[in-house]
Amino acid sequence: MTATRIDGKAFAAALRERVGSHALDFASKAGRKPGLAVVLVGEDPASQVYVGSKGKATVAAGMESFEHRLPADTSADALLALVDKLNADENIDGILVQLPLPDHLDEHSIIASISPDKDVDGFHVINAGRLSVGQSGFVPCTPLGCMMLLTDRLGDLSGLEAVVIGRSNIVGKPMAQLLLDANATVTIAHSRTKDLAAVVKRADIVVAAVGRPNMIGKDWLKPGATVIDVGINRLPPEPGKEKGKLVGDVAFDEASEVAGAITPVPGGVGPMTIAVLLRNTLVAAHRNAGLAVPEGI
Ligand code: NDP
Repeated sequence: MTATRIDGKAFAAALRERVGSHALDFASKAGRKPGLAVVLVGEDPASQVYVGSKGKATVAAGMESFEHRLPADTSADALLALVDKLNADENIDGILVQLPLPDHLDEHSIIASISPDKDVDGFHVINAGRLSVGQSGFVPCTPLGCMMLLTDRLGDLSGLEAVVIGRSNIVGKPMAQLLLDANATVTIAHSRTKDLAAVVKRADIVVAAVGRPNMIGKDWLKPGATVIDVGINRLPPEPGKEKGKLVGDVAFDEASEVAGAITPVPGGVGPMTIAVLLRNTLVAAHRNAGLAVPEGI
């Protein structure tokens, strides 16, 4: 068997198109574009790249991007004052504080200061709580993107065995919650799980969010399983090359011999994250303006 390659890049591009056309519609009704504020503290090179791409994608989707780049020694008070200002700004629907923050800033208290109704990253405890009790709020972008790929591929997930490897607050836990809400039978595995290979072998759906290159081989997979690889790992560079290859947590080539469908790295889950961020911002804009959220978005 050769697995179907789940093309997250194409799915994300289509989602961004849909968001863009709804954003135009929103602007004609509300008299302003949806607005996303992104706050970056410090000069972490990876974060700078992420913030730059988020800004470009926001503008390309017909939304207003507000970027705030603050020095690494910004005080907690100054950052909280900026978040307060953004919370009160009616032109801003979504606020994202790029993580990680420098060590002297407490991520939990900064995220807690964002209005839950503008928390388009879905990291606020209120939104985590809403997800866990089944109320509508904002769901973290990466797991929501994985869920979109899964339902697009499989339709109804009722009764399927799902194994999520990883239990972080931003990927593993919300992923498990979404799968549970979709009536899958869910196992969350982590670094203390015994005989992980046997646990994964039961799964019709495997979501790997670990951060260990090529950890999951073909022997771990049930034939026909749908595999969503969230991991992004850079291998050491080959001789003569400046950068190593990007790989996921799943050994893609060999897993493709057994799985029914699988996301590649890159080009699978990665592109979904920003597309879902734009989707969440569009939803926030409609809610904040008292307009009906477009269906099927
Ligand atoms: P974390 O480091 O927060 O969590 C990793 C999880 O993996 C933990 O729950 C940990 O278990 C578990 N784990 C570690 N080693 C093992 C092991 N040997 N066996 C089983 N479980 C293990 O990572 P994130 O959730 O933030 O991210 C996971 C991966 O996804 C990373 O590669 C990250 O780069 C990528 N990522 C990709 C995104 C995208 O846009 N595509 C977005 C976010 C993340 P324990 O809790 O016991 O320590």
